[in-house]
Amino acid sequence: MSVIYKITNKINGKIYVGKSDLFEDEFFKSNYYGSGKLIKPAIKKYGIDNFTREIVDFANDEDGLNEKEKYWIMTCNSKVPNGYNIADGGTGGATRGVGWHQSDKTKEKISQKALGRKNSPEHIEKTRLGNLGKIPWNKGKTGVYSEEARKAMSLARKGKTSWNKGKAGTYSEQARKNMSAGQLGQKQSKETIEKRRLKNLGKKRTEEWKKQTSDRMKIENKKRILENKHNWWKGGITPLRGKIYQSFQWRQWRTNIFQRDNYICQKCKQKGGSLEVHHIKLFALILQENNIKTLEQAIQCEELWNINNGITLCLECHKKTDNYRGKGLKKRR
Ligand SMILES: [Zn+2]
Repeated sequence: MSVIYKITNKINGKIYVGKSDLFEDEFFKSNYYGSGKLIKPAIKKYGIDNFTREIVDFANDEDGLNEKEKYWIMTCNSKVPNGYNIADGGTGGATRGVGWHQSDKTKEKISQKALGRKNSPEHIEKTRLGNLGKIPWNKGKTGVYSEEARKAMSLARKGKTSWNKGKAGTYSEQARKNMSAGQLGQKQSKETIEKRRLKNLGKKRTEEWKKQTSDRMKIENKKRILENKHNWWKGGITPLRGKIYQSFQWRQWRTNIFQRDNYICQKCKQKGGSLEVHHIKLFALILQENNIKTLEQAIQCEELWNINNGITLCLECHKKTDNYRGKGLKKRR
């Protein structure tokens, strides 16, 4: 399942539409804002805070993705000089965070042409007003898109809703602890951790305690966002795991499993939706047993890329597994 995303310049209203083979949550966790020749310098010029990032559509295959990219570039009027898209879309593969699949020569030509055209201030203002006042391009489009695409569009329309808003349980308890420890900038000693663990064992977590903790987390998360945006996107994943998740091998492994399972949750048989790959043998355990410390070592590790160790599950079924997002590790301690 790949996504079509839309990046909007909050100052001049200019839009960039792109495609990515990342999943929705991965997309928002990444700091990927597109690899187009115009959007990159624009982000540099205006600053990342002056852009919004939304998912507008999904596709299951390359052809669908290309069709939808064309559609959104057209309806968002995001082609240069009105927006940041250089081409009509629909060519090349989904971006894997590395760039377009056009030849470098073609890219260079198009980009030079686009960059050579300077917009007058009047034109910029016209574009901005035009884009701001436009009737939503997806209005009245019911029936054209699948259920999940409509959900995504509804989310996108709301503009500022973050992908993890209201999604309690997005992070495991351990991940949240990691984030919290990271925020505080402290390394906790084994003794401290053990002491707290023993203390927590005896503590009945009342509703009030839970609420207090949740409020504190909210404040801490806000602080963290201000302090370090980059780390926030990684959401408690260790740097090595983050690197692995970004790798081509990882996506290939996941795609192979999805394809083998025909994009169907192997437990409840739901097709499509929020699908994930569940590790039969714990991911962290494979890293540990093979003494993997670097991405290079991970790529060399055959066990890690064995597709028999992965199974397609929907998010709900995945959450019920006993090693979902570090649950298994906690048990082992
Ligand atoms: Zn399921």
